[in-house]
Amino acid sequence: KANRHFHEDDSIIDIDGVKVGAENFMVCAGPCSVENEEDTVALAKRLKAAGANTLRGGAFKPRTSPYAFQGLGVEGLRILQTAKQETGLPVVSELMSTEYLDDFVELVDVIQVGARNMQNFDLLKAIGKTDKPVLLKRGMSATMKEWLMSAEYIMAGGNENVIFCERGIRTFETATRNTLDLQTVPVIQKESHLPIVIDPSHAAGIRHIIPSMAKAAVMSGANGLQIEVHQDPENAWSDGQQCLTPDEFDELMTTINMLLEIE
Ligand code: PEP
Ligand code: MN
Repeated sequence: KANRHFHEDDSIIDIDGVKVGAENFMVCAGPCSVENEEDTVALAKRLKAAGANTLRGGAFKPRTSPYAFQGLGVEGLRILQTAKQETGLPVVSELMSTEYLDDFVELVDVIQVGARNMQNFDLLKAIGKTDKPVLLKRGMSATMKEWLMSAEYIMAGGNENVIFCERGIRTFETATRNTLDLQTVPVIQKESHLPIVIDPSHAAGIRHIIPSMAKAAVMSGANGLQIEVHQDPENAWSDGQQCLTPDEFDELMTTINMLLEIE
C-alpha cells in the first residue's frame, strides 16, 4: 500500500486541517519533552508566529538511561492539548506502548513512532487500526526497505495516514550524534507516495549543525521538517544540546520560508 505502484499521485495527509504532502510543507517544532504548561504554551505561540504548523512535544520519552527523565505521561498530552487550544497548532507526540493508545487517540493529532520502535510490530499493528496520522521515524540502523515495510504494517490495518521521518542513522562517525541520510528523500519519494520529513535535530545532536541541514532538507525536496526548540536549551530536561532557541528558530524560518517560495 505504501508503494507508488498502487498510488501514482503524492498522498496528502490531513492533520486536523493541516495538510502535509505534495506541495504542502510540514514544519513541526517544539521541545524534546513537555515540561510544564506555562512554558509549553508560551513556546507554542512563538513557534506558530515563526511559521510552524504543528507542535511537537514528548510526554513518553525513550531515554537511554532508566534514571533519566521519562516524560510527564498523560499529563504531558493534556498540556499539549492546552497549547493546541491556545494556538490552533495540531500536536505530535511519541507513543511507546499500546497501553496508552486510547489516550493518544483522544489527545494528540499525530502519533509519533520513535526510531527505537520502528520495528515494534505489535505497536504498528495497533496504530494501524486507528485513523490517526502517524509520523514514522526511521530506526537508527534500519534500511529504507525495512522502513517501508514498517509503514506497510500500519497501512495493512487500514490506516494509510503515514508520514516518514528521517532522523539520522548510525554510522562509524562519532563527531555527530547520527548521520543524516538525505539520499533517502529521493529514494522514498520514488518508491512511495507518502510524504517524508527530515529531523535534523536528532541526526546532528548538536545545535549549530541544524540550520544548514534543515536548509539542505528543503532543497532535497523533503515534505517537511521536525525541529527541537526550547526556550532555555541549557536547562532543558532532555536533548538541550540540540535544541534551537526560539530566536534561532525565527531566523531559520525566515530562510526556510524564502527557500519554499523559490522551490
Ligand atoms: C524524539 O523525537 O524526541 C525522539 C526520541 O526521536 P527519535 O525516536 O528519532 O530518537
Ligand atoms: Mn529529543
